[in-house]
Amino acid sequence: MQEAWLQLRCPACSADWEERVSDLSAPETQFVCDDCGTERPLSEFMRTARDLEVLQEFTDG
Ligand SMILES: [Zn+2]
Repeated sequence: MQEAWLQLRCPACSADWEERVSDLSAPETQFVCDDCGTERPLSEFMRTARDLEVLQEFTDG
């Protein structure tokens, strides 16, 4: 299976980066931005609706 990479963007400081979906937790998990320290649900860091869909599918099993 291909490893999916998701695009993330911090809703507070607009930093952009990518993470392997296998390194991420469920969308409702609290996530801390490395750049500014903002803590939000991981779902708010997904850059596009598609990224959120992939994360939901992956973490639903
Ligand atoms: Zn940030």
